[in-house]
Amino acid sequence: MVAIRVVLLGPPGAGKGTQAQLLQEKFHGCQISTGDILRKAVAEKTALGKEAGSYIERGALVPDGVILNLVTQRIQQPDCANGFLLDGFPRTVAQADGLQQILDSLGQRLDGVLSVQVPPDIIIERLSGRRTCKECGAMYHVTFSPSKKNGMCDQCAGALYQRNDDNPETVGTRLKVYESQTAPLVNYYRERGLLRDIDGMGSVEEIHKRVLRALGEQVP
Ligand code: AMP
Repeated sequence: MVAIRVVLLGPPGAGKGTQAQLLQEKFHGCQISTGDILRKAVAEKTALGKEAGSYIERGALVPDGVILNLVTQRIQQPDCANGFLLDGFPRTVAQADGLQQILDSLGQRLDGVLSVQVPPDIIIERLSGRRTCKECGAMYHVTFSPSKKNGMCDQCAGALYQRNDDNPETVGTRLKVYESQTAPLVNYYRERGLLRDIDGMGSVEEIHKRVLRALGEQVP
């Protein structure tokens, strides 16, 4: 089995989670979504959740130290030994430097960083219609990929909900935060020869094929 170690970079709503899930199904390894981990911690009212909740609610970034602690622990779990897909991390240069240190200490290196690009007006359309399963995290869109039964997950029959931070005002903040804090990582990874540009427009399958080609896979 080939182990792949990949970062998915891109603004909120670019489709990083969807593509990470498809890559996980193909290559196995672990999918690490820092956003999912934080939302679970908030729901379970853990110490991490209490610390992170107010940042998430206003669309701001949770402090780098908190995130790096979380990723350092998660990436050393047995299911990550055969590769990982990082979705929503790193989000700042300090996090990218921290990731490099973690990987150096584990004797691992990244195979690539996929920069998924989508224009801002499309992002807003995608996020405002996004619905997520409370149970399994599967994602839907009210117009583009609705569930078969209204409000119910096709995969596990869990309830679908709209994320609090997917409201128009918080989305605006998240996009600004992306531009100022995360977009610089595009050049960071380009300079290191790791960046692969992915056009994030089109169907999930089309984008998946682009992702596979960018990773050097043969795609019919
Ligand atoms: P996401 O699900 O990736 O859109 O993340 C939702 C929210 O969780 C973000 O708006 C941040 O408040 C927080 N978050 C997720 N990942 C990170 C990260 N790598 N660094 C800082 N904050 C994060």
